[in-house]
Amino acid sequence: MAHDGVVVNMLSLKKHYKNGNGIRVSTSGNYADVGGEQLWIDVLNATLEHGLAPVSWTDYLYLTVGGTLSNAGISGQTFLYGPQIGNVLELDVITGKGDFMTCSKDKNSELFYAVLGGLGLFGIITRARIVLAKAPKRVKWVRMIYSDFSIFTRDQEHLISTKGLEYLEGSLMMDYTPANNWRSSFFSPSNESRITYLLKKHGILYCLDMVKYYDDETVNSVDKEVQMLQEGLNFIPGFTFTRDETYVDFLNRVRRGEITLKSKGLWDVPHPWLNLFVPKSHILDFNAGVFVDIIHRQKKTTGPLLVYPTTKIVWDDKMSAVVPDEDIFYCVGLLHSGSFNDWQDLDNQNNEILEYCDRAGIKMKQYLPHYKSKEEWIKHFGPKWNTFQERKAKFDPRMILSPGQNIFNYV
Ligand SMILES: Cc1cc2nc3c(=O)[nH]c(=O)nc-3n(C[C@H](O)[C@H](O)[C@H](O)COP(=O)(O)OP(=O)(O)OC[C@H]3O[C@@H](n4cnc5c(N)ncnc54)[C@H](O)[C@@H]3O)c2cc1C
Repeated sequence: MAHDGVVVNMLSLKKHYKNGNGIRVSTSGNYADVGGEQLWIDVLNATLEHGLAPVSWTDYLYLTVGGTLSNAGISGQTFLYGPQIGNVLELDVITGKGDFMTCSKDKNSELFYAVLGGLGLFGIITRARIVLAKAPKRVKWVRMIYSDFSIFTRDQEHLISTKGLEYLEGSLMMDYTPANNWRSSFFSPSNESRITYLLKKHGILYCLDMVKYYDDETVNSVDKEVQMLQEGLNFIPGFTFTRDETYVDFLNRVRRGEITLKSKGLWDVPHPWLNLFVPKSHILDFNAGVFVDIIHRQKKTTGPLLVYPTTKIVWDDKMSAVVPDEDIFYCVGLLHSGSFNDWQDLDNQNNEILEYCDRAGIKMKQYLPHYKSKEEWIKHFGPKWNTFQERKAKFDPRMILSPGQNIFNYV
């Protein structure tokens, strides 16, 4: 990431706080001022002390605020609240020129929009003012199983247009991997064998996860509300499963998997991930061409495969993050886990997927993008490229920040 360059140890900022730990909740309770080096898990714990929490999350919370805001920060709440970059009121940034600037939509707005989703290319985020809301106490987490991708996506799209749920994701199960995996052990042993039987029959199954938050005031009505949300959905009859968890355990769910994998020495392995935003108009082609014809046929990957919709309207186009030009698009996460022997195979498979999308005319965008040539970056940014370039010249003219992204500097 920093060939012949400098790596900033953001955690060292913690030493300089005169009061507190770098997370300060406003007296109004509407926002928290948070150091760019803070982990989201620490933001969660500090804000919960006030009965509050941020509204938009990532699946995994041991990531820094500055790091996710440099990308977008997405999870099952994105369709409702927008990505994490859409829930920031103000930033302190040290630009590539060494200027220390406070920015927001109204003040130094160009820097604000540049930095959010800006891949670390314009400045270092040292503080972010994050939107807060009242934190729920618990969640009902429902998983429904589908064998037909078009019915699965139709129900997902229906649910994101309905009021009443706070989180929606989706994932795939393949007949060559167990129904319960490191990231999710949702099913009891007897349900797991029922699902394994179904998997043998269909080859691929699709899981729709939805979550309804609740607290003391809504504890008596939440089951009824979940039931109403499920009305008219077309999952396989009898294949719906519910968990009741604290809000914190739900948000921190990936940590449980991390601890299990670490205990088996399986966390620190290569992860050739591919994250894409796929327009709704091509999601059925993507299923046929990628999930069925590449991933399932090749049977190489063991990591989670995520697919869930979001809407363009909750993304601010002035920010640097790039999304497809369609009202609804799908977040696809191919979170492969490899070994030191086979990562290259998974990397090749990722390239095959990208080539397929090109051939099939699928105008997807990479999330957490990785490109080798300037032409590819220009194509990625599309109409935003000129602004992106101008902002780089303005805030980091010597191009010292994040050269490892290979956008303006080539190693
Ligand atoms: C296990 C795991 C799970 C993940 N899950 C999700 C998910 O659910 N949703 C999602 O959206 N993303 C997810 N990500 C991706 C994540 O958003 C990015 O990797 C992000 O960069 C992580 O932040 P970091 O603190 O690890 O960044 P680092 O790896 O430390 O930095 C990545 C880059 O971000 C920039 N950067 C970092 N800090 C700052 C700062 N303070 N100011 C300016 N630029 C900065 C720099 O360019 C740096 O090179 C996941 C990543 C991992 C490893």
